[in-house]
Amino acid sequence: MESSRRRSSVIVIGAGVSGISAGKVLADNGVEDLVILEASDRIGGRIRHERFGGVSAELGAGWIAGVGGKQANPVWELASQSGLRTCFSDYSNARYNIYDRSGKIFPSGVAADSYKKAVDSAIQNLKNLEDNDDSIDDTSEPHSAPKTPIELAIDFILHDFEMAEVEPISTYVDFGEREFLVADERGYVHLLHKMAEEFLFTSEGKILDSRLQLNKVVREIQHSRNGVVVKTEDGCIYEANYVILSASIGVLQSDLISFKPPLPRWKTEAIEKCDVMVYTKIFLKFPYKFWPCGPEKEFFIYAHDRRGYYTFWQHMENAYPGSNILVVTLTNGESKRVEAQSDEETLEEAMEVLKDMFGPSVPNATDILVPRWWNNRFQRGSYSNYPIISNNQVVNSIKAPVGRIFFTGEHTSEKFNGYVHGGYLAGIDTGKTLVEKMNKEKERDTENQNQNFLLEPLLALTLTQTEAVSSNGPKLEDDHDDDNDYDDDDDNDYDDDDEKKTTTGGRMDSDLVIEPSKPCLQGNMMMGTTINAGKWKKDAKGMMNLPSKVQAADATSMEVPGFGFEVK
Ligand SMILES: Cc1cc2nc3c(=O)[nH]c(=O)nc-3n(C[C@H](O)[C@H](O)[C@H](O)COP(=O)(O)OP(=O)(O)OC[C@H]3O[C@@H](n4cnc5c(N)ncnc54)[C@H](O)[C@@H]3O)c2cc1C
Repeated sequence: MESSRRRSSVIVIGAGVSGISAGKVLADNGVEDLVILEASDRIGGRIRHERFGGVSAELGAGWIAGVGGKQANPVWELASQSGLRTCFSDYSNARYNIYDRSGKIFPSGVAADSYKKAVDSAIQNLKNLEDNDDSIDDTSEPHSAPKTPIELAIDFILHDFEMAEVEPISTYVDFGEREFLVADERGYVHLLHKMAEEFLFTSEGKILDSRLQLNKVVREIQHSRNGVVVKTEDGCIYEANYVILSASIGVLQSDLISFKPPLPRWKTEAIEKCDVMVYTKIFLKFPYKFWPCGPEKEFFIYAHDRRGYYTFWQHMENAYPGSNILVVTLTNGESKRVEAQSDEETLEEAMEVLKDMFGPSVPNATDILVPRWWNNRFQRGSYSNYPIISNNQVVNSIKAPVGRIFFTGEHTSEKFNGYVHGGYLAGIDTGKTLVEKMNKEKERDTENQNQNFLLEPLLALTLTQTEAVSSNGPKLEDDHDDDNDYDDDDDNDYDDDDEKKTTTGGRMDSDLVIEPSKPCLQGNMMMGTTINAGKWKKDAKGMMNLPSKVQAADATSMEVPGFGFEVK
């Protein structure tokens, strides 16, 4: 069993966009001794591309959403800086390219009417939910539920794409409503490599820094008031002062990572409340193109009597001219169904649908690529989806640290969850929060050291009188024992400031516990710490270096002048 017992300041779990952006913030702020543990063999997480049909296919995030508004989308800025090739996507005409099962396109009037009806109904449902917040009943039939294939198709587009989020959609309000498809051979992940380059050692585009450890599947996080111990599947053990955990909401809902002690209930309940969306882009390569191209034809819809059945299609001619590739998007139940079957079966189903739309003579696809985000144990889904009617409490609880574990990832972004920019900004936010926390801790340590300097002689005297019993003193370091809830009140709140309390004869303001019979000779002491010095009055005769008022004292309670603490 390999053991890496060297203690670092921070372990970042996950090298997706949030983990990398958090790591960069730490490094920018002087926290260089960090380790990034990534379960897979690459960085990027849900930003992932593969060669398919001669081009770069983005299996995960494909678009930079939210461009052209008043504020600049930070991911769009990164893309511009690194010259990422993108291509504007105009979805607005998809609703006029709706095919029925006999290959006829619905007349635009019919499509527009159905669309309007679906939007009105969706808005009405939303209002009803808002008005009767208490009486939300998942089983109740929504207003005028869609029934016909075209209604079902539009309902799918509205709910699983356009209106899957609560209006107003922050991404569009803040950054603009335009969306750009990444069409770059280096992949969307190129942005992450550029970011990583700024704080990790790289050579010829490869990250060679030992602080990034790939193929490290974290299975256990032990946490206590003294630090964290992280165990990976291959038996490695890492220690640090803090952890930033960027695993997806799906992973948090699974049993991949166990926590010792377990996460408090407010945390696990919030994690369970967040929905996981599964979104699957299936790529199909053809010997030649047989679908209409040209303006307003990039996206098209198939209306079937089963909701979400190979509904949403896109050709890749705008992104990669001559590639002869189609992409069909499935979600949730259909995604899971397709993930469970063979690619050959999926290819057969997709070909039947294409024959419905474009006639029996269409050529067979020569290749298919079916990503499996749901069955990927490092993802367990595509992105978080907060219930339409939910308050910020859920996301706040999901984001809130538990002691020394800090949470990040797109699911912790209050405004932009589900997006690359959500993950990016969440990583920055968590990184900054942790840096602040560490700085405060440093300040406190410096104060403690100053006080120690003054107290040392006093403690030395304590030593002379108690040397014999010092070995029985409390353990100060590496105390990852079973009593590591580091919170005496056990209230499971997330005010980790209460992890350190001033008490007498119990947990103290410092790692130092002093009892008359079991003195402890090292550790830090905070202002206001009460020391029960008990019988050292008797042994205090030779206190040569102590401030005079202390030396003179013969009572069990003394004040050390000018330093605001008391020795009782
Ligand atoms: C199919 C699909 C399409 C999408 N489309 C878009 C889009 O067009 N535009 C957009 O903006 N966003 C899109 N998204 C969402 C976007 O990809 C995510 O919001 C973003 O990439 C999440 O980044 P993250 O850092 O939060 O998480 P991740 O990228 O999931 O990073 C977490 C990392 O943690 C690692 N990990 C997990 N468990 C462990 C463990 N136990 N030990 C060690 N490491 C672990 C994972 O391997 C992963 O690398 C899409 C996502 C998917 C899947």
